[in-house]
Amino acid sequence: MTRAKKEITQAGTKIYDRGLVAGTWGNISKRLEEDPKKFAITPSGMDYRKIKEEDIVILNLEGEKKEGERIPSAETPLHAHVYKTREEINAVIHTHSVYASAIACLRENIPPIVEDMVQIVGGGIETAEYELPGTEELAESALRALNHKKAALLANHGVISLGKDVDEAIKVAEIVEKSAKIYLLAEFLGNPKKLDEEEVEKMKEAYRKYGQS
Ligand SMILES: [Zn+2]
Repeated sequence: MTRAKKEITQAGTKIYDRGLVAGTWGNISKRLEEDPKKFAITPSGMDYRKIKEEDIVILNLEGEKKEGERIPSAETPLHAHVYKTREEINAVIHTHSVYASAIACLRENIPPIVEDMVQIVGGGIETAEYELPGTEELAESALRALNHKKAALLANHGVISLGKDVDEAIKVAEIVEKSAKIYLLAEFLGNPKKLDEEEVEKMKEAYRKYGQS
């Protein structure tokens, strides 16, 4: 249990230092390895630089508190719905990164345009239908936009990034922001060409063989 808490506090510092969140906004969770029907999540409205392991709250998949003194993140339904429906996912990070949020305000999707986005996120990034932050409705619209992929934009709000572990969820959050920057810049300069489905599949296949392992 301590491991999930430690990973969450470390991830909080990372996403804060990398400018993916501002102030106390955004939230991080991790499914418990020892009990996959529970997850650990950041407390509501606390400074990432001040969150300690004892501030992390443990909840079940219904969002009911099982351990901890703090009030859990207001986006608890968003995290709980992911763990309930995506068995392969063990970490969820919600950020308000600037470029991705700009596209979320346009309520547009980021088409599949660059390699790392296609390989790690799983294709283009869709924007979920607008719903009020913190609601069950937001969780449901986010899941529809996620489909089987690892990231989605939340209309007029921010980003949700998933991973098999915390490191992957951070990587996804960074790639979403980078892809949003590239897309906005390419749109400004001209007419970005999106990758077709065949190219997307080829890139995903190449990624399965990528790296040292
Ligand atoms: Zn938010």
